[in-house]
Amino acid sequence: MYIGRFAPSPSGPLHFGSLVAALGSYFQAKSHSGQWLVRIEDIDPPREVAGAASLILKTLEAYQLHWDGGVLYQSSRLDAYQAQIDHWLHQGQAYLCECTRKQIKALGGYYQGTCRDKALSASNQCAVRLKMHHPVESFIDQRYGQLNIPKALAEEDFIIKRRDGLFAYNLAVVLDDIYQNITEVVRGADLIEPTGRQISLYKTLEVEPVSYLHLPLAIDDNGNKLSKQNHATAIDLDNPRPTLLNAMRFLGFNIDSHIETENIETIIQWGVENWQLLQLPNKLKIKPPFSNGAL
Ligand code: GLU
Repeated sequence: MYIGRFAPSPSGPLHFGSLVAALGSYFQAKSHSGQWLVRIEDIDPPREVAGAASLILKTLEAYQLHWDGGVLYQSSRLDAYQAQIDHWLHQGQAYLCECTRKQIKALGGYYQGTCRDKALSASNQCAVRLKMHHPVESFIDQRYGQLNIPKALAEEDFIIKRRDGLFAYNLAVVLDDIYQNITEVVRGADLIEPTGRQISLYKTLEVEPVSYLHLPLAIDDNGNKLSKQNHATAIDLDNPRPTLLNAMRFLGFNIDSHIETENIETIIQWGVENWQLLQLPNKLKIKPPFSNGAL
């Protein structure tokens, strides 16, 4: 059984780029007669915007993207993340690290394992790092084939819990994808680099990794990702059709004119029936063929 998911962070309303990820993961799941789950990745309270999670869910409903089962909130999973970290600390598979970002930068930007053998004891000034025994320098993407990750990045003992006490994205994502029995992760190409670390986590946990499909990233005129952080325009809830059609064209659909005037539900259904991986553009970074204002 195919189980896919869409996992937005509630750091703002959905924008064009996140709608592309929602649609791509939905079409891929439903064209495999699979389930499509929604998980709210609310493990970073300082970056959370009040009301964003419920607005995201309302937006998905307005675009007729109906998820299977209940919504999982990562904030309800903190004990599970901590239990895994405690287990690894106990095993010597993870360790505390007191290095600051500044110190790491001064040593060349990649973490050199400075605290690996220091045996620091619990302190709130420490991050937790995983000993990297399974560096992953490449993986096979379902559409784009082999994607590479810089060696120095792949070999780093990366952070699984931050100095400020927040759990790291990579750890939470993998533990939850396993917990929810996800079989394939479909998401934006901005998350290609973390994929290496995530596969390393599967190897450490001795669990078969999911398969991965990355979707082209919508970029602005300056080549920057359209994101909540750079205030990409929130997508329209009241009149979803133009944005939906634009996002589907961005995903490579050739939309017949008689489909364009159908209701949202029918357009989505047409998308499920016509979705093919080969339609996805060859390039992983694309400027949408319309201005931000038109979204
Ligand atoms: N929560 C992440 C984001 O909104 C996506 C996580 C994922 O799909 O793995 O960027």
